[in-house]
Amino acid sequence: MYNINSIREDFPILSRQVYGKPLVYLDNAATTQKPLCVLDAMRKEYLNVNANVHRGVHYLSQQATDLHEAAREIVRQFINAQKTEEIVFTRGTTEAINLIATSFCDSQMQEGDEILVSDMEHHSNIVPWQLQAQRKGIVVRHLPINDEGELTIDKINDFITEKTKIISIAHVSNVLGTINDVQRIVSVAHLRGIPVMVDAAQSVPHMKIDVQQLDCDFLAFSGHKMYGPTGIGVLYGKECWLDKLPPYQGGGEMIDKVTWEQTTFERLPYKFEAGTPDYIATHGLATAIKYMNTIGLKNIEAHEQELTNYCMEKLKTIPNMRLFGPTTTIHPSSHCPQKDAVVSFLVGDIHHLDMGTLLDRLGIAVRTGHHCAQPLMDRLGISGTVRASFALYNTKEEIDTLVAGIHRISQMF
Ligand code: PLP
Repeated sequence: MYNINSIREDFPILSRQVYGKPLVYLDNAATTQKPLCVLDAMRKEYLNVNANVHRGVHYLSQQATDLHEAAREIVRQFINAQKTEEIVFTRGTTEAINLIATSFCDSQMQEGDEILVSDMEHHSNIVPWQLQAQRKGIVVRHLPINDEGELTIDKINDFITEKTKIISIAHVSNVLGTINDVQRIVSVAHLRGIPVMVDAAQSVPHMKIDVQQLDCDFLAFSGHKMYGPTGIGVLYGKECWLDKLPPYQGGGEMIDKVTWEQTTFERLPYKFEAGTPDYIATHGLATAIKYMNTIGLKNIEAHEQELTNYCMEKLKTIPNMRLFGPTTTIHPSSHCPQKDAVVSFLVGDIHHLDMGTLLDRLGIAVRTGHHCAQPLMDRLGISGTVRASFALYNTKEEIDTLVAGIHRISQMF
């Protein structure tokens, strides 16, 4: 039984009002709200345990280190990585992609080599590669999408050349909700000896991720999009790759021995974790994962798929509604899930900003604009969309409120 009322009680912010209206929070792809257990766990750690990790012989430091390393193990199990050495804590998805872009391009790529991304990437999976491209004369290519907002994976071989050294692809689009078949991309890429990085910022919060099954070489996600704190994220990397790559940042924690002549580096994963880690946030993230596990990833996925379908069906009843991306959650022919908990739309010629501002006055929080995906907006020929995105605590009643709000605003224009 999915007990939505008891779940909502775990998130006190959901019962607040904005402009005198009950809050309807539908901006979960940007960040999720935090359950009490996460806030309590972090508060308790600051109150009772706080000490810097790894370096101390004293009791508190060891206790904090134990919590921090236990969090790594919880993340490992959550994505089914083989080893904790493959779990690197970062500030978020963005930092994880920057880490790989920098270390990989520095050590594995030469002028003229190519990186393949796609038309539906978040800027976090475009700009880090572009920065490296400028430095090293590397070329960033992009796999197109079709008019349904799906990646043209059938054409991927046309975009891979003997110069392609890495492919970096979003698992789920933060604008279209499209779920990309990354397992298929990985198998095509591996046939040609090319590693694949997966931007899982929008998939890890919504579905069971098994990195061994995906067989991806790198995968990144952010804690704050999955009920955890801000400022913490994860880079998963296959040990064989992480071993090969040079450190991203230098400092404490990541060294083995430092002399004026030479520095040697710590073993994995510490080689990539320079400086004091956010050990309170790693504990918060682990608590969020345990919270999601208690509800069950399958139950979360089913609930959110139901909300996504319900929302799309209701939105289709609004005159001049334009939905972006797949319009059903299950692909009609392959019967595979094809859309996640994100619905982007425009109504007639009402500007997305006007729609978002007026919805806000009704207590409904949605996101408007380009969603950090300007090349995708160019491809769609628009400047932005209105985006409603769902989490495990949203309800059909909230979607009804959204749809009624859109009806009302449409009639005003
Ligand atoms: N990738 C995707 C698909 C996203 O949706 C986001 C954030 O919205 C990011 C990367 C960046 O995540 P963060 O800002 O947490 O690093």
